[in-house]
Amino acid sequence: MQIETKNNRSFLGRFECGDDLLSALTDFCKQNQIKMGVFNLIGAVQKAKMGYYNQEKKEYVDCIDLEKKLEISACMGNISLKDNEIMVHAHITLSDYEGKTYGGHLRPGTIIFAAEFFIQELSGEQLIRKKDEKTGLPLWNH
Ligand code: ZN
Repeated sequence: MQIETKNNRSFLGRFECGDDLLSALTDFCKQNQIKMGVFNLIGAVQKAKMGYYNQEKKEYVDCIDLEKKLEISACMGNISLKDNEIMVHAHITLSDYEGKTYGGHLRPGTIIFAAEFFIQELSGEQLIRKKDEKTGLPLWNH
């Protein structure tokens, strides 16, 4: 499935040092009533938590817990609705002193050192996440 979108408002800014990255993104979208969109973000974290979706068990496992100061080489994702709430789906790639990277599904517990974002609100038929039987994931099912 797919929908046609148009660019609506866009936002450029930064989040505060010490804040939880996923919460900061979600709170910003809720405060600004961004119900659909895409974003990208760069910066650095003090520590990170990422998940991995186990396709056989059909569940997320919190497998990556890094007590390390790392660069946010890339963080991107999208915004839509799930259970009538604004939901941010974000993936992140982090790099260390040697350029070695870690990546995964962004989870709560990733703490910002610095985070510069660009958020593009989109308009069009509202995408809503609903449980998909085949994958077990809450996928778009407008
Ligand atoms: Zn994901």
